[in-house]
Order: sequence, then C-alpha cells, then structure tokens
Amino acid sequence: MTTENASTESKLNETEKKRALSGLTLAELTDFVSELGLPKFRAKQIHSWIYAKWAKSFDEMTDLGQELRAKLNEVATIQFLKLAHLEVSRDGTRKYLFELPDGQLIESVLIAFEDRDSLSACLSSQVGCAVGCTFCATGYLGFKRNLTHQEIVDQVMSIQRESGQRVANIVYMGQGEPLLNTDTVISSIKTLMNSVGIGARHITVSTSGIVPGINDLAAANLPITLALSLHAPDRATREEIVPITSKYPIHKVMEAMHDYVNTTRRRVTIEYVLLEGVNDSEEQARMLAELVKDLHCNINLIPFNPTMNKEGQILYQRPDIRTQKRFRDISGRTGKTVTIRLERGTDIDAACGQLHNKFLAAKN
Ligand code: SAH
Ligand code: SF4
Repeated sequence: MTTENASTESKLNETEKKRALSGLTLAELTDFVSELGLPKFRAKQIHSWIYAKWAKSFDEMTDLGQELRAKLNEVATIQFLKLAHLEVSRDGTRKYLFELPDGQLIESVLIAFEDRDSLSACLSSQVGCAVGCTFCATGYLGFKRNLTHQEIVDQVMSIQRESGQRVANIVYMGQGEPLLNTDTVISSIKTLMNSVGIGARHITVSTSGIVPGINDLAAANLPITLALSLHAPDRATREEIVPITSKYPIHKVMEAMHDYVNTTRRRVTIEYVLLEGVNDSEEQARMLAELVKDLHCNINLIPFNPTMNKEGQILYQRPDIRTQKRFRDISGRTGKTVTIRLERGTDIDAACGQLHNKFLAAKN
C-alpha cells in the first residue's frame, strides 16, 4: 500500500465533504438544487449531463454557466463510488472493486458475452451475503450491510464513465442477495430504466429463493427477468449447499415462482451451478426436469468456478464436459431450453466475491 502525503490527504478530505451526485434520482437532484437556491430546471440539466452524457466533471456542463459551475465544483462532485482496483481479463471482461463511503468494498463486472453484441454489467446489491451458500466466495465473506440506491445505480454509471462503453444489460448477480434488499433493488431498477435508459427486458434479478422477496418483486410487476438459483432439485442436497432452504423449502419457492410468472407473464430462468458428485447425477437431472416441467422457464447450467473458503480450501470441483452435457440433455427432456453458461473473465476471478477476497487477503 502506498502512503499518501499530507496534501493528498487534505484534498481527499475536501472531496469527501462534497455531495456526490451520480446515482441520485431526479427528485433527489431537485432537492439538491433547491437547497442551493437554484431553479428546478437546473436539476434536469445536471440529470441529463450525468445520465445521458456521462459527464465526469461540472466543467463539461457548458449550459450551466461559469459561475454556477464554479459553485457546484465547491460543494459537489459527480463520482460517488471510488475505484479501488480494476482488472481487465484477456477476453475483455472488466472487474471493478469499488470502495463505499464507509470503506467497505463491493465488486461489479462488465462482461461482453460472445452471443450478444451488447455489454452486460453484473451488480452487487449488498456488502457480503447472509445466505452462506457453500460454494460461493461472497457467502464466505458473511453479511456486512445492504447497499443504498445510490451505491447500486452508481456502479453502472461508474462503469460507463470509466470504460467509455454503454451498458445494455444488467444482472443483479454480484455480491449479495438482492431479495434481502428488495425495496432498494426495486427502486434502483426503476432508476436504471428511467434515468440510465436500460430496457426492463435487459434487466435480470437473481435470487437464492427468498419467498417474501419474490412475492414483493411480483407485486412490483416490472417487465424484468427473475432468475432462481436452484442448484439442486432435492431437499437434502439443496439444504446442504444453499442453507436458506431450511427456511424457504423448495416447494414454497416453486409456488412463489409460479405466482411470479402468473402475475408478470414473464419467463423466468432457473440457474444451476454444477458441482461434481454433489448435484450433477442423472437422477438429479431427471428430478430437475420434473420439478420445472410446468414452469415457464429456461435452464442455465453454470459450471462451478473454483473458490477458496476462509481456510483456503476449495470444497468442490467442476464436472467434466461429458457430465455437463449429459446433465443438459436429461434436464431438457421435458422441452425446456437448457444452456451451459460460457465462462467469462476466469483469469481475473470474475465469480462474485472472488476479487474482493483476494484484495482483502493482499491487504492483511
Ligand atoms: N445471491 C444471488 C445473486 C448473486 S450470486 C443468487 O444467489 O442468486 C449469482 C449467481 O452466481 C448465483 O446463481 C450463484 O449461485 C452463482 N455463483 C456463486 N458462486 C459461484 C461459483 N463459485 N461458481 C459458479 N457460480 C457461482
Ligand atoms: Fe449469497 Fe448468492 Fe453467494 Fe448464495 S450464491 S452466498 S445467495 S451471493
């Protein structure tokens, strides 16, 4: 770690006192300009500079006038999240580690999937996660706190400003369980749609199966995609790897997923991390096919991305390609589309929580 000299430190303190505007809603920006005694239309101008033009500084906001720009420079900044670390993978995946105002760290990833010509951003919804899945690096971190609306939205804006590339798809698949922070996630989705300009159909929320959260998301009735991280069709295996199953059993989660489809009329996704010798048997593939037979869904198989727990152990292995394909073929027998997810960014630890853990280990 580098030691900062006194002048850099005082400069940093000055910046910290300023109000950061990126990630705020138009209503929040309107309150901000009113506090400065400015007319409301100034909020609209600033909103457009931040979200449509990805401005990095007030100096770019030419229609505000020099005097106002100077005033804004004194009291505010654009950037909210601090970039603590960036890794770029050979395949172009960009993995960001952001520092929050209280010093906590979160991860976001910018991914170019080969089958799409648009970019996807993978967002965090919490610092750490309380669900504690036994194969997940974020689960190993434990739960620290929920993210705020601004902390979620500014992940996208920070990525766009840094990379200069437009994010077209959003997946809530970074750190955290989005449906244990449902109200904030729903309000962030609305800002991504209305301010950032991302189509609802290009937004996916992934959950480990939090029944009240699924019901709340259904009630919000947004035309987004809901993905369920099922990972096992039988209770014993699921309880072992996704411990929240003891609170929300599979049949209750499936009931909530059916209700979700009935309310929103949207096709859902079933995610299934393949762990060798744990959930990859032919019998489990048949059980999975049976379990989701009547659900309007696609199935996404995710070959396990090896992660180390706190003791430095890797608890699982990825099944070989033959097993993966056999599982795909059997689980698709009732007519569902089953895909094996392509890996992106594995040379930079792009699975959720992995960069965070590596960074903390290096710091200690
Ligand atoms: N908490 C939510 C969203 C974040 S995790 C959820 O669990 O759905 C996003 C996805 O990454 C989940 O499907 C999760 O099971 C998967 N995942 C976590 N660790 C992984 C690993 N090491 N290898 C492959 N997929 C992993
Ligand atoms: Fe939490 Fe999702 Fe990781 Fe499970 S897989 S510990 S729910 S982030």
